[in-house]
Amino acid sequence: MADYILAIDQGTTSTRAMVFDHSGKVVSTGQLEHEQIFPRAGWVEHDPEEIWRNTREVIGQALSRADITRHDIAAVGITNQRETTVVWEKATGKPVYNAIVWQDTRTQAIVDRFAKDGGVERFKQTVGLPLSTYFAGTKIVWILENVDGAREKAEAGELMFGTTDTWVLWNLTGGTDGGVHVTDVTNASRTLFMDLRTQTWDQSILDVFGVPASMLPEIKSSSEVYGTVESSSLLREVPIAGILGDQQAATFGQVAFEPGEAKNTYGTGNFLIFPTGTEIVHSDNGLLTTMAYRLGDGEAHYAMEGSIAVTGSLIQWLRDNLGLISSAPDVERLAATVEDNGGAYFVPAFSGLFAPYWRSEARGALVGLTRFVNKGHIARAALEATAFQSKEVMDAVDADTGNPLKELKVDGGMVANDMLMQFQADILGVPVVRPVVAETTALGAAYAAGLAVGFWKDFDDLRKNWQEDKRWEPSMDDEERERQYRLWKKAVTKTFDWVD
Ligand code: ADP
Repeated sequence: MADYILAIDQGTTSTRAMVFDHSGKVVSTGQLEHEQIFPRAGWVEHDPEEIWRNTREVIGQALSRADITRHDIAAVGITNQRETTVVWEKATGKPVYNAIVWQDTRTQAIVDRFAKDGGVERFKQTVGLPLSTYFAGTKIVWILENVDGAREKAEAGELMFGTTDTWVLWNLTGGTDGGVHVTDVTNASRTLFMDLRTQTWDQSILDVFGVPASMLPEIKSSSEVYGTVESSSLLREVPIAGILGDQQAATFGQVAFEPGEAKNTYGTGNFLIFPTGTEIVHSDNGLLTTMAYRLGDGEAHYAMEGSIAVTGSLIQWLRDNLGLISSAPDVERLAATVEDNGGAYFVPAFSGLFAPYWRSEARGALVGLTRFVNKGHIARAALEATAFQSKEVMDAVDADTGNPLKELKVDGGMVANDMLMQFQADILGVPVVRPVVAETTALGAAYAAGLAVGFWKDFDDLRKNWQEDKRWEPSMDDEERERQYRLWKKAVTKTFDWVD
């Protein structure tokens, strides 16, 4: 058998291709950023054609940097930014509109309209999610209602919807020439349309939203051969055998397969996933219920999730909108110029607040300001915001499960930040642990694909690959922790009811 698995990680800010060996080590990487398009306040778009071009290119980069060819690749896995919505014409492969990104809040009026009858939780028992601008379903409706001719074409069966896993898969398998129109259970569970129990589209919900079933991809497991790569690709004839949405992929890459083995990913946003096994657990504390994975014909596994919209992107905002730093890692240096936050708290409710509040009308606030506060304090407050938001999500997990986490596995771009990780351990009061392979998202997709083709045998085979790199122990006293958290909670209330 070939020696490697290639994972495509179609993320929010960039697309990566990574080659992994049997021990789960990264052999090579190709990566390209794509444009973030902000046409109006609250709108965020990507160009799907740019994403597809980048995907092809990063595959070439990863293969050539490892000096290997398709013959060395046993299978391809795909992981992706979830919820980001692409609608394209079946006959031409042309998107009818830009991809509407998960952070985009333009569908608030659509959410309000559907919530009138039954509230935002009206579908929660079936789909695990509240109505929110976050999920793909409302974004599809927006395209059908706002793009000229889209509804007619959709009703005539001429349009296809996909999250970016599906968009990449369809193109990789030939596009207009026989492309496979498929998604996996984890991505389907982020639409608002999938019944968690059966993992099929719920026709009665589709009827409410007015979305034709014909435009939806077929829902498959997260680990099986969906098709093979088309003949003009460097990867031609290689099977594509795994798909997991990015957060589920990171959970898989952290080998957090069983109940209680949580992970928290620190990227553009933060996402804590807490697997609940084959049981569907509904939250009373603002967590989502979602798919963890299903492997082939195996049983469905579920998870609770605390999604936070803005964490790493607040650091980007300090860089791009304020010019306070010239690169994201610089924030640590700036924050180190001061002892503490100087009393400043920064609640980055730029896309409303996700877990555990689900308040789409909230907007960001920087509070506690005095003449004393300087840019170092603001950098510190921005970093601390990530830790406080994660603490709120962890509290929700504790409240729902009655099973407090004893340590937290972490990954994602921000875990390079030592100050943040120490503060996270301090505020949580439990150790924070980072694995050697921090690229858990791509690794998880590689694992799903590798399991399907027998490259890895079973979970134990994968568990052997997980190794601890660094551990941060809590060192803050209880009183200080409680004081800081109380002030944070107060700061959060200042963001409520902002949109009139
Ligand atoms: P995604 O997969 O969501 O695109 P990544 O996991 O690549 O994100 O993480 C990138 C994010 O991490 C960016 O938002 C960036 O601002 C932030 N980031 C990267 N390095 C650091 C750092 N040293 N300190 C704080 N934030 C960082």
